[in-house]
Amino acid sequence: MSDFSPAPGLRPWQRTAAGAGLLAADGTIAATIFAEMSALAASTGAINLGQGFPDEDGPAEVLEAARQAIADGVNQYPPGIGAPVLREAIAAHQLRWYGLEVDAASEVLVTAGATEALAATILALVDEGDEVVTFEPYYDAYAALIARAGGVHRTVPLLFPDWRPDLDELDAAVTDRTRVILVNSPHNPTGTVLGDDVLDRVVELAIRHDAVIVTDEVYEHLTFGAPHRPIATRPGARERTITISSGGKTFSTTGWKIGWLTAPAHLVTSVLAVKQYLTYVNGAPFQPAIATGLALPDAVFTDAAAALRAKRDVLAGGLEAAGFAIPLPDAGYFIVAGAAPLGYDDGAVLCRELPERAGVVGVPVSAFVHPDRHDAYRSLVRFAFCKRHDVLEEASARLSRLSAA
Ligand code: PMP
Ligand code: GLN
Repeated sequence: MSDFSPAPGLRPWQRTAAGAGLLAADGTIAATIFAEMSALAASTGAINLGQGFPDEDGPAEVLEAARQAIADGVNQYPPGIGAPVLREAIAAHQLRWYGLEVDAASEVLVTAGATEALAATILALVDEGDEVVTFEPYYDAYAALIARAGGVHRTVPLLFPDWRPDLDELDAAVTDRTRVILVNSPHNPTGTVLGDDVLDRVVELAIRHDAVIVTDEVYEHLTFGAPHRPIATRPGARERTITISSGGKTFSTTGWKIGWLTAPAHLVTSVLAVKQYLTYVNGAPFQPAIATGLALPDAVFTDAAAALRAKRDVLAGGLEAAGFAIPLPDAGYFIVAGAAPLGYDDGAVLCRELPERAGVVGVPVSAFVHPDRHDAYRSLVRFAFCKRHDVLEEASARLSRLSAA
């Protein structure tokens, strides 16, 4: 019987090459690392800095717009490509923030979160044996989806602590067998923002080898330094790029699962062909609400990023005081902390002990890498800082027990 608990003997950070979401022989599935760590936090009462979701609501206008949409009867299937008001808002957002002209009628597709955009895109583009290049560590769904499509996953490492990829390694990874280069910037779990030199090399290689660029930009508005610049704005990129984002992070509505992609019309059509038989549509009243959010003044976006930056600094201080080695992330929800200075060379072991030793839950970075390459990332743990200040302060105080022990 499948009970959604991790299969015995199969920990999520010991996934095989086939990727995550494995069905074990006894019919159980290995829960995603995020679900497992949230369950661990719930069962131990520890502070959950594992799964990345905020513990405060986002803009009141967005929440009110959803309530209003329900009251107004926006409760039936929206159009398959998404509510026109949201598609218009997404196109307007791309123009306003990035100068990207996108046709709302043919170049925007609304999806069930960024996750469905990723799933439908990979299933649409990747055939058996096609190669997909990503950086590593990578968001766990990438490996699972590439495996599900029958693709071959090639990776280019981002190494602690500066997370800069070696461009020669990128050159070597992309070949005529490459169907997709899947970029994630700002990046989960490292919080790094890929430089223009890296983005330009991705574009150059995609053109040379006729690959499609897929870019996951769900943390686009959560940057702490220079504003985000989509790869689609780089010369030569737009006509071969599928840009994916979601309202979850920007508006603190991760449970609404309103995502989208923008791309040239022929790519939107290919992805829609798959998407229409995945969810068909989702979230009717949440679609106009996210449209309301996308049209909010610039200050709402920049203030949210500033507030998150202050939270990052609280947790960074706590982790440093506890003895972790941390590079400060430039964006996103997470800090990756090196546990070696605390005497832990295995972050997975630390994560298992952490609820008892310090009343905190984190996620081992080994969950974001291929098992063959655990060594380079073994001592690293990801902590989420998208939490209230008092929660982060309490977590910091608890983590200080580690160095005191
Ligand atoms: N991509 C990345 C890099 C993420 O971190 C996440 C979730 N946090 C997603 C995709 C999934 O986004 P959504 O919840 O909109 O499906
Ligand atoms: N993206 C979130 C994270 O990285 C989790 C989403 C999920 O649980 N699938 O923590």
